[in-house]
Amino acid sequence: MHERERDAAMSDAEILCKADSWDQPTRRSFLTSTAGAVGSLIVGGAVLPTVAAAANAKVIRADFNWGALQSRIQGEVVAANAPEFAEARSALVWNKIKPDRSPDAIVRVKTENDCIAAVTFARENGLKVVVRGGGHTWCGLAVRNGGITIDLSALNESTIDEQKQTAVIQPVISNRELARRLGEQGLAFPIGHCPTVKAGGYLLNGGMSWNMGHWGPACLSVEAVEFVTSDGRLIKASATEHQDLYWAARGCGPGMFAIAVRFHLKCYPLPKAIAASNYCFSLNDLRAVVDEVVAAGRRMPDNVELSIFLKKAPPELAAECADNNGKLCMIAAVAFGMTGEESRAALAPLEEIGVLNKALARSFNQPSGFDELAIASGETWPENHRNLCENQCSKARPSDILMALRDKIIEAPSDKSVIVFCQSTGTRNLLEPHPEVALSMDATSYGGSWAIWEHEADDAANRKWQDEVVAIMKPFTSQHYIGETDIVQDPARVQESYTAEKWQRLEAIRAKYDPQGVFFGFLGGTGKA
Ligand SMILES: Cc1cc2nc3c(=O)[nH]c(=O)nc-3n(C[C@H](O)[C@H](O)[C@H](O)COP(=O)(O)OP(=O)(O)OC[C@H]3O[C@@H](n4cnc5c(N)ncnc54)[C@H](O)[C@@H]3O)c2cc1C
Repeated sequence: MHERERDAAMSDAEILCKADSWDQPTRRSFLTSTAGAVGSLIVGGAVLPTVAAAANAKVIRADFNWGALQSRIQGEVVAANAPEFAEARSALVWNKIKPDRSPDAIVRVKTENDCIAAVTFARENGLKVVVRGGGHTWCGLAVRNGGITIDLSALNESTIDEQKQTAVIQPVISNRELARRLGEQGLAFPIGHCPTVKAGGYLLNGGMSWNMGHWGPACLSVEAVEFVTSDGRLIKASATEHQDLYWAARGCGPGMFAIAVRFHLKCYPLPKAIAASNYCFSLNDLRAVVDEVVAAGRRMPDNVELSIFLKKAPPELAAECADNNGKLCMIAAVAFGMTGEESRAALAPLEEIGVLNKALARSFNQPSGFDELAIASGETWPENHRNLCENQCSKARPSDILMALRDKIIEAPSDKSVIVFCQSTGTRNLLEPHPEVALSMDATSYGGSWAIWEHEADDAANRKWQDEVVAIMKPFTSQHYIGETDIVQDPARVQESYTAEKWQRLEAIRAKYDPQGVFFGFLGGTGKA
């Protein structure tokens, strides 16, 4: 049996796992591969270094008849030889680490018709396209080598139907803005954690959301997606139309092979009494804390989001954490209750754990809301920083994973770096198999490491740290999360984000909807790049 098929068979077996029978870290082996060849690109006479998969390497061209495309759209074409191109290319990527890749042109569309015109122009000229939503993929996937980056930034409208509890949104609306617009109508949606991340890319990835234990990954609440396809049609994919495309749209992420221009969302009544508890512990007590917290999670309802952070201590606890280089373990629990009493009861099991008397600090059942949660996440993952991210899911015992990573957080070269794992609450696992969507994650916990720092001079030290952390996590990993895995660093992680069966189906659907390969697809050595 092929190694990958063997892995898939294991995944099926894992479905039978009970929450208290943790996977052993050594069960799974993974393929590894290198980032690719080092080469160079020529842009307007300048030579830029590039680290890219050899299959992607391409000489930049600015000599297409971009004027013809400009005359067909309301938006704007910025060709690679335009004076403002370098700045425009840099702005495509949220991360301060910018990719050494470059498109032939950036097309800032204003309308869905502009999307059709851009795809048609690309197809007619033998160019590839990639979509840029909010530019938040950690490894800068909205910038590829050559072709057109279609920038959807202007597509940010929404209509909300309060009665039907539905919304139709364009892709580039931020988590925070979507929560605000829905909240005004008494509604909510499983948005992502950070305030500035945009809905489109997040939903296509699958969407690891707030209150995921209760609402499920965000893609389960996507009822339809309107797409501009590679042949320039505008079509709707749903449970009744283009079902295969609808399946792919919920988990395909950066491999998406059509432009998603509208998402039809199922919404929920706004939890009116969101409340949060926080507990800080010394890393010396890590195993006992994690074991007790994870067990308490199973006594909480599934509308509590329970996360375990390894991070820098707040200033008031710095002295107490000095023996661990100022780092500690923070437990954060957020209850999405409809009443104060519901949230209080939901959070109560954490007040009963045996290690509570060792807490360095604690706050119980503090009123919160989506906006407060967004602000808190924004502080952990700040703007204008250099970032590396690896997010995976696991059925291993959480204390085994976190104990393996304990020394790494202590020695992290940047105090801003963080390790976080979100845990199951209630009786269901946090991520369960969903055959109706491409998203393949199946786990009791998900999370990973984020190296976050400011200065380019510190790149090498942080890269080394992140690689070492990822290597430690690897034996515990059942799948990577396609929305937050570094597929530039290791292209094998594309396929490791899916079961073998789902991967094959995804590629068959891609071949049907994009037979000429107009869309770049996944970057790297796997899939059509
Ligand atoms: C600070 C931060 C916090 C995050 N938190 C979370 C979180 O809580 N949960 C979570 O699930 N993820 C999270 N993410 C990851 C996030 O889901 C991805 O970065 C996602 O790609 C962001 O969407 P985007 O539109 O900005 O992507 P972009 O970088 O613009 O696009 C990435 C790729 O997605 C594809 N794509 C994007 N939009 C479209 C579209 N409309 N049509 C077709 N293809 C498209 C393209 O292939 C593109 O190359 C976070 C990221 C950051 C930076």
